[in-house]
Amino acid sequence: MSFTTRFAPSPTGHLHIGHAFSAWTAFQAAVEAEGRFVLRMEDIDTVRCKREYEQVILDDLIWLGLDWEEPVRRQSEHFEDYGRVLERLKALGVVYRCFKTRREIMADIARAPHGVGEVYRGPVAPMSGDEESNRVEAGDAFAWRLSLARCRDLLGPRFAAMRYLEEGQGEQIADPDPLGDIILARKDVGTSYHVAVVHDDALQGISHVIRGEDLREMTPLHVLLQTLLDLPTPVYRHHRLLLDENGERFAKRNRSVTLKSLRESGVTPDEVRAKFNP
Ligand code: GLU
Repeated sequence: MSFTTRFAPSPTGHLHIGHAFSAWTAFQAAVEAEGRFVLRMEDIDTVRCKREYEQVILDDLIWLGLDWEEPVRRQSEHFEDYGRVLERLKALGVVYRCFKTRREIMADIARAPHGVGEVYRGPVAPMSGDEESNRVEAGDAFAWRLSLARCRDLLGPRFAAMRYLEEGQGEQIADPDPLGDIILARKDVGTSYHVAVVHDDALQGISHVIRGEDLREMTPLHVLLQTLLDLPTPVYRHHRLLLDENGERFAKRNRSVTLKSLRESGVTPDEVRAKFNP
C-alpha cells in the first residue's frame, strides 16, 4: 500500500496552532514519502460541528501551505456506512445496550474491586431479553457499548496477540483492557468517533495515522475494532502536543491563538511554522 496519511479535524471551532502543527506534521510526512495526503471532516457531532468552521479550516490550511486530494470526506454524509459497521458488531455479538445513566455508571465503578474500578467493565449479569425489549419499547435512552469480555471470547488467542507499529518505537501491544467497555454508539446517534475513524481510515487506504499523543490511549481500541472487522491496521505515529508559553495545551476556546486570528493580524505562515520547532 502506498504511503497515505490524513488530517481529520472536527469543525467544532477554529483551528489553533496545535492543530496546525498536527496538520503540518502529517502533510510533511506525505511530502517526504511522496505519498498521498487526505483531509477528512470528522463532523458526526452535528450539534457542535458547523459548516462555517469547516470553511475557515479549509482557508487556514491553504494559507498554511497544505494541499490535499479532493473530495474532502465529510463524515456527516456517511452515517449509513457507520450504521453498517455497528450492525456487523451486533452480529458478532460484541456490543450490548447499556441503559445506565452516568450516575449509575459512576456508582458501579466506585463499587468495583480496587484496581479495576477506574472504567466501566460491563454489568455483573447481562440484562434479560425481556427487560431489554421492555426498555426499548418504553423508549428509554441507551448506549451501545463494546464488551471487552465478549471480544476476548470471540477472538480467543488473537485478542492477546493484537499489535500495532508505532513509528520510531517499534511494535506495541494493543491492550484495550485499561479502557473498559467503551461507548460505540447511542440510541439517537448511531456512531461515535471510534467507529467512524476506524471505518474511514480503512476506506481511505490510510497507511499511516499521524495524530496527537492525546489519542494514543485509544489506539488499542482502534486496533481491536480493526481486528473484529477484518480491516488492516495502519502504522501509527503519535506526535507531541504543542504547548503555549505557560506549558499548557492550546485549546479551541482561546481565541488569541486561532490560525484565523493570527493570519488576520498579519502573521505569516513561515512565522507560524517556526513555532513548530522545539
Ligand atoms: N477528529 C479528531 C480531532 O479533531 C482527530 C482524530 C484522529 O486523528 O484520529 O481531535
